Amino acid sequence: MFWADELAGAVSGPQVVNDSKTPSGTIHVGALRGVVIHDAIVRAVQAAGREVRFVYGIDDLDPMDAQTLAAREGRLEDMGKPLAHIAPPAGSTASSWAEHFAGQFLAAFAHVGAHPELYRMSRLYAEGAFDGFVRAALERAADVRRVYLEVSRSRKADDWFPLQVICPHCGKVGTTVVDSWNGSEVHYRCERDLVAWAHGCGRDGWISPFGGNAKLPWNLDWAAQWRHFGVTIEACGKDLSTAGGSRERSDALARQVFGFEPPINLAYEFVTVAGRKMKSSAGTGAAAHEMAELLPGDVLRFMMLRHRPRHAIDFDPSGDTIPRLFDEYDRIARAAARLEVRGELPPDADAIFRASLVDPGADPLIEGARYRPSFSRVAFLVQVPGVDVANRVAAEKGAPLDDAERGILAERAAVARRWLADYAPAEARFAMREDGLPSEARALSAEQRLFLGALAIRLERDGPSEGDGWQAMIFDVAQQGSLPAARAFAAIYLAFLGRPSGPRAGWLLASLEREFVLARLREAAGWDSGADVVAPATPGGQP
Ligand SMILES: [Zn+2]
Repeated sequence: MFWADELAGAVSGPQVVNDSKTPSGTIHVGALRGVVIHDAIVRAVQAAGREVRFVYGIDDLDPMDAQTLAAREGRLEDMGKPLAHIAPPAGSTASSWAEHFAGQFLAAFAHVGAHPELYRMSRLYAEGAFDGFVRAALERAADVRRVYLEVSRSRKADDWFPLQVICPHCGKVGTTVVDSWNGSEVHYRCERDLVAWAHGCGRDGWISPFGGNAKLPWNLDWAAQWRHFGVTIEACGKDLSTAGGSRERSDALARQVFGFEPPINLAYEFVTVAGRKMKSSAGTGAAAHEMAELLPGDVLRFMMLRHRPRHAIDFDPSGDTIPRLFDEYDRIARAAARLEVRGELPPDADAIFRASLVDPGADPLIEGARYRPSFSRVAFLVQVPGVDVANRVAAEKGAPLDDAERGILAERAAVARRWLADYAPAEARFAMREDGLPSEARALSAEQRLFLGALAIRLERDGPSEGDGWQAMIFDVAQQGSLPAARAFAAIYLAFLGRPSGPRAGWLLASLEREFVLARLREAAGWDSGADVVAPATPGGQP
């Protein structure tokens, strides 16, 4: 059974699903796994006939901290200030640092079909919505200290209060401690050396803890979110789910300080990019908004849902991850439409495909049956000059493409062009040399020239129209001339691309105009006019 359906089957009554993110900088593609996982849960609960609400929080009162600097995005003078109070990066029209990065990330939500109700911690605190939680935490400070000690062996001083005042003098929240509470105001100190990554102004004073003057530490913030929205389900990354870790601390605070049962947890694994667990990094394919701009929403959802949440995902946009991701998506789509597929299928293939569709109302049988040209094939065709890609793909389908299929093709062609320009490995790219024989073809040996000439003669007799036929013919002609296949293919690449390697040669030649191929083969064979033939060894055996 699909894990989200399993979870939906285990709960009763109306559900509230929550997730949240600190917009400290460019948000990593891995954070989209959380969004998609929660959306899949929401849909599964709906499908099980229960009411469900999906809320998503922007933790924008969190301070700009060491993590932001590590991503080379932070600003020294702003370290320690709440992200919602910091000016956006240069050139941005957003209202704050938090809104700039949250905005980038949120644009990806609609793309993957997730539509949660958004909330911002800066607003909830300013509206006084969290005043009750602030008061409870201050009054039960001893319980909070005990939970920190018992759950994560973190000992707090007896005068430590679980509150972070936003210093009214320097505006920093990451540098303050509260050491006293008189029932209406707290006494805070803004310390120069509380943390290594920011320096406070050194002042102290009494201030009301309510109405946005202060925030709770993250673990209490989290528990307060659950209580405020009545959250019943929240999955979280495995780094937070460890024993004695953040989630366990918040669970205990929910029970022992605020007095309620925490939501159901579901831990999920990381998404690494090319084997590295980057927190965030723009321009390397690791940013959520970049991948949302590159990949179709269905395929991006599929990337996050094809494995169970406990399975780590590695993603390398500069390798073959993207072509393979499309191939696997196409295979699962065909399976969902009851079409023949090669290889083993995951036991819940139908549910994975259904959950991967951006439109929750789409019919998996109809969507799955649409003709999808392989991504590698499209990435190849868009590089061949003079090819009408839509006609070529229709010929391969053996029937005209319908509107939806033309849409799929156009989308894949756009992805392929961007992938080739920004991410693809060198071997996936090629440039056809149309302006005559490349100079590199001088490196062709006599045997290779003979082979190309023989290929031209064979082509005059029977030119195959598709890639497989071409591929077979190349092998056959090479074998008859006793030329090792690798040398034969290298000859073709040198003659057409001016380099010794390239994409599948059969597909390359099948995509080109027959007359162009014939002329180029003859030219490379040193046999321009056909008049002064250097007697290419005509492959014998056939009349
Ligand atoms: Zn200060």
